[in-house]
Amino acid sequence: MEAISYERAFDVATALRAIREPGAVFIGGGTNLVDLMKGGVQRPLKLVDITHIGAGLDTIGTLPDGGLRIGALVRNSDAANHALVREGYPLLTEALLAGASAQLRNMATVGGNLMQRTRCPYFYDTAFPSCNKRLPGSGCGAIAGHHRGHAILGASPQCIAVNPSDMSVALAALDATVRVAGQDGERLIPISEFHRLPGDRPDIDTTLRPDELITAVELPPPAFAHHAHYLKVRDRASYAFALVSVAAGLRLDGNAVSTAHIALGGVAHKPWRATIAERMLTGRPLSDATLREAAAAELRAAHPQRENRFKVALAERSIVRAVEVAARGGDTGRTGATT
Ligand code: SF4
Repeated sequence: MEAISYERAFDVATALRAIREPGAVFIGGGTNLVDLMKGGVQRPLKLVDITHIGAGLDTIGTLPDGGLRIGALVRNSDAANHALVREGYPLLTEALLAGASAQLRNMATVGGNLMQRTRCPYFYDTAFPSCNKRLPGSGCGAIAGHHRGHAILGASPQCIAVNPSDMSVALAALDATVRVAGQDGERLIPISEFHRLPGDRPDIDTTLRPDELITAVELPPPAFAHHAHYLKVRDRASYAFALVSVAAGLRLDGNAVSTAHIALGGVAHKPWRATIAERMLTGRPLSDATLREAAAAELRAAHPQRENRFKVALAERSIVRAVEVAARGGDTGRTGATT
């Protein structure tokens, strides 16, 4: 039995002081951290409880430019169902409601969702000796083992894990920014730079420094309120991580695409912004042929493993499907029904 100390922070300054103590970690909803602690994957010496900070970390409001600020401690279910999110960012609502279960969404925070760790079974089970993410330098058990759910884009010989978040895929398509507080003040991290590809340091998931606290996620003014869709393909209809997911937001001029934002989940160590497909769709009339061509071009860089070659075709078809549904005005009937 290891002793763990606990401190409840009531303001950001206290949280930032407490996190500097050796072995300290922040705890919000705890839906991922507690699992990691129970499995012995993560062994903090101190928990800094940030759930009582207030100070706007638990609220949602508009920004002066018409964008939206979502506090880091807002629960996933509250974010999904907030009127400003539903009306301006239905893509985010769909993605949030596709994640986990209703019970978990009621506990999990927006900041915690950004920080959740891969569900690679070799990472979670300490009986496996090889996992570069858990034990740097020990090898990657998944490459020689089972890797059906693993990455097909952006992986490295060190790690082929995928980011498990649905929310982060929508945030990538929406060009979100992560606001963080640190010892030297605040800074803003574009969502595209927040999560990392594994490279030779798969043990590091994000560019957040260990002594920094996420305070909010900020979104630009709504651009895809009318043409957006989050498609999640998984082994069962609820409480399962994505094999492939696609967040698609469009602006249309008649049948022509004036703006396309597309991000993929379940395929890489970070949400994968499909910039090649976006460029190929922009300025062109939307047709089945154009869409298939753009999706195939995006996946041309894929390097699947032995067991997950199916993901390449699945990702291509998912891009086509998600963009088609977005162009039709989304699939709002499903929003709220997916658990
Ligand atoms: Fe560990 Fe990454 Fe390999 Fe999974 S894929 S075993 S997380 S190094």
